[in-house]
Amino acid sequence: MELEIQKAERLNIIGHLAASVAHEIRNPMTVVRGFMQIFDREAFVPDSKKVYLKLMIQELDRAESIINDYLTLARPRLEKQEKINIGEQIQSVMEIISSFAMLNNISITYEVEEKMLVSGIPEKLNQVLINLIKNAIEASPEGEAVHITAYRKEDKIWIEIQDSGIGLSPEEVKRLGMPFYTTKENGTGLGLMVCFQIIKAMNGKIEVLSQKNIGTHFIIKLPEDTSSFQPVGSTV
Ligand code: ADP
Ligand code: MG
Repeated sequence: MELEIQKAERLNIIGHLAASVAHEIRNPMTVVRGFMQIFDREAFVPDSKKVYLKLMIQELDRAESIINDYLTLARPRLEKQEKINIGEQIQSVMEIISSFAMLNNISITYEVEEKMLVSGIPEKLNQVLINLIKNAIEASPEGEAVHITAYRKEDKIWIEIQDSGIGLSPEEVKRLGMPFYTTKENGTGLGLMVCFQIIKAMNGKIEVLSQKNIGTHFIIKLPEDTSSFQPVGSTV
């Protein structure tokens, strides 16, 4: 138990440090990758050596996935709790994820109730939504759709991400969120762990319903931030 806690703390610290340099790391990586691709097309590089270039590009892509799964996509800034409008948040996530969905030939639909506020750090909630939607896309066969809905229920805000993908067995569901648990060839196994940590810090929880070969349903439940509401009877 002690070890588990220490490990979690260590991962937290790594995450914190890395978040502040992620943006700066991604740019030079893109430049290096670009030049490697150019070399890959050059005749002066013998085919026997091009295999190394491909490996280098693959490894760079893996580094990029770790950054994407583990770090916020926005510029790091002071961690101040804010009111987050769920509708606007999902809208901005859609802009980031839509090209990835298109690339995988998956359509995304979303239906969100208006004026739902939660309290947290927008970049972190972004990260959760991106990781969950990315997983849903990766689990789906081409041509399928991923559905996102958000509404109020049982005093909480529910955000659902539903796919008709490969699904999970009950044993697999139990392993979700363990660091480095992945079934993907180039997976990091960090995405869900980060999601669980962030939602827990927001006093929420994530539930998973899944059936093998039918699909998976992730539900994020968050407390609503009602602090800005006017008391009943007041005038504005
Ligand atoms: P990664 O995506 O890098 O594998 P994650 O932590 O995001 O790491 O996910 C861990 C594992 O959980 C995945 O490898 C996959 O086996 C499983 N998983 C997550 N989301 C889904 C989903 N929507 N449908 C099926 N399996 C999923
Ligand atoms: Mg993932």
